[in-house]
Amino acid sequence: WAKDGGRHAASLYSADIDRWGTQRLKLRHEIRPAIELQQFVLHYQPQFRLKDNTIAGAEALVRWQHPKLGLLSPAAFLEIAEASPAINELGAWVFDEACRQLALWNQQGCNLVMSINVSARQLGNYSLPEMVASCVRKHGIDPGCIKIEITESMLSQDFSTAETVLLKLKELGFRIALDDFGTGYSNFTYLNRFPVTSLKIDRSFVQPITHDASALAMLNGIIGLAKSLKLSVICEGVETEPQRTMLRTTNCDLIQGYLTGRPVPPDEFFELFLPNRRQ
Ligand code: C2E
Ligand code: MG
Ligand code: MG
Ligand code: MG
Repeated sequence: WAKDGGRHAASLYSADIDRWGTQRLKLRHEIRPAIELQQFVLHYQPQFRLKDNTIAGAEALVRWQHPKLGLLSPAAFLEIAEASPAINELGAWVFDEACRQLALWNQQGCNLVMSINVSARQLGNYSLPEMVASCVRKHGIDPGCIKIEITESMLSQDFSTAETVLLKLKELGFRIALDDFGTGYSNFTYLNRFPVTSLKIDRSFVQPITHDASALAMLNGIIGLAKSLKLSVICEGVETEPQRTMLRTTNCDLIQGYLTGRPVPPDEFFELFLPNRRQ
């Protein structure tokens, strides 16, 4: 019956792929209307200064409140969105919404920097600087309060466009962070070549430091290098108190992770993390 079982398994498998394929196709066509229908929402995760535990900013993380599938995380739809021109509209919506929220919080007496992720496709688009510049103008915020997060995989794709776009963004006064550092080739030449202002070190580099001395040595080396290039350093994926304690022995500036706060909707963020705001 092994043969039979095998065949059965195979047909199940292809049915699954088929269902997933259909699902993807459906989702892809639903993205544009979903923007109109305001089904996308942003959750915010706090970033804290390591030296005094004060809040420095937030990262905006997109979610899709899908009417049938529930709250979808980026893993469920971002790749699909990125394969379609709709990513530009979604990206523009994310930027506008995060800026609107930042303006609101900062009017309430906060002084936060908002980190916003952009996709490879956005970074390969010469109109990105114009889009984000008009967005901050519209909301009356200083570009220095916005940190645009890019990943190194984007830089290897279309080098020259990315370089032009990033230079323009920096000229306009935006901060730029290289996100997920440590997950790809971690090419140090990117740090030098591209006009980034901070380095965001991935959790795969951060989490082992409590039990692996060479991981800590590596982290210290990376931070030292970033510091010598005058970059600010943020460690992500900080989940435990021992990890934070260990990070205090390094030159890291900011931390982000489940230990200090999960991504939450804006009203919850306000309640939980913005105690010093004016009411
Ligand atoms: P990212 O930019 O590296 O964001 C950090 C991710 O790690 C988030 O996942 C966050 O929820 C998760 N995280 C935060 N702290 C911890 C922790 O302590 N432990 C663990 N295990 N995970 C933690 P999320 O929200 O699912 O986002 C996944 C990725 O999707 C993001 O990775 C980013 O690359 C992308 N993304 C999210 N929002 C946007 C967006 O608006 N535009 C674009 N282009 N990409 C986005
Ligand atoms: Mg990010
Ligand atoms: Mg990251
Ligand atoms: Mg990521």
